[in-house]
Amino acid sequence: MTFTILGTAAAEGWPALWCPCTACEQARELGGKNIRRRTAYQLGDRIHVDFGPDTFAQMLEFGLHYERLEHLLITHSHHDHLCPQELLYRQRGFVVEELGTLTIHGNEAVRTKLNALGHSMGDCRARFELVTHFEPIDLGEGVTATPLPADHAQGEEAVIYLFERDGRALLQANDTGWFPEPTWRFLEGKQLDVVLIECTYGSREGGHHHLGANQVLDVRERLRKSGSLKPGARVITVHFSHNGGWLHERLEAFFAPHQIEVAWDGMQVEL
Ligand SMILES: [Zn+2]
Ligand SMILES: [Zn+2]
Ligand SMILES: [Zn+2]
Repeated sequence: MTFTILGTAAAEGWPALWCPCTACEQARELGGKNIRRRTAYQLGDRIHVDFGPDTFAQMLEFGLHYERLEHLLITHSHHDHLCPQELLYRQRGFVVEELGTLTIHGNEAVRTKLNALGHSMGDCRARFELVTHFEPIDLGEGVTATPLPADHAQGEEAVIYLFERDGRALLQANDTGWFPEPTWRFLEGKQLDVVLIECTYGSREGGHHHLGANQVLDVRERLRKSGSLKPGARVITVHFSHNGGWLHERLEAFFAPHQIEVAWDGMQVEL
């Protein structure tokens, strides 16, 4: 099953909406892998992760059919990961054909944001399911997603998801900071094929809420020491901010000696 990385930027995109800094100007000039949309992923046809301000643009760019979605997993309620207004276009009148029910999985803050829409989820042909840490969600066709605690976002419990299918495992870890201990302990019992790990701060130091390039190396090291990486596992960095300064090539130059990959919008991995 194909897992597509639809966006690899932090909140403001890269080039950032309003920013004339060197990193943004160079991205505008060079284009290609330096153009980064807000973070989202899709697994096959039915499962989508996060629902930010570039959802419509990603549908166009990557030829997606959102009407086929059955599950929408939300990591946390920040604007770059959840723009619920777009769900209103699932209502009758905006969609001519019949639509199946979309199950939206998220934390309490996600529920609050959906409620603030002032429309029932039923009108949007959707339903909400509260996630519970470490409790796998059955997504059908043998796929499960397990929400794990992250160290990100004040006042809410942001999660990252571990996807498993047929003995394969992919960890999607953006907006996580350094994993909380219970998450580390849970991962000790796992054998990961793919790890997507945030590198929001790039050349700058991270820690709480977000990671930089040096912490990505630390995360990989701890996963290796605890035996959580299958031989040949792919470690791929995602979720970059222009504040980190390093464009795609520079990120690749830093990570290549460590056999760590740098994601771009449209990159695909197999689960
Ligand atoms: Zn984010
Ligand atoms: Zn900038
Ligand atoms: Zn966030």
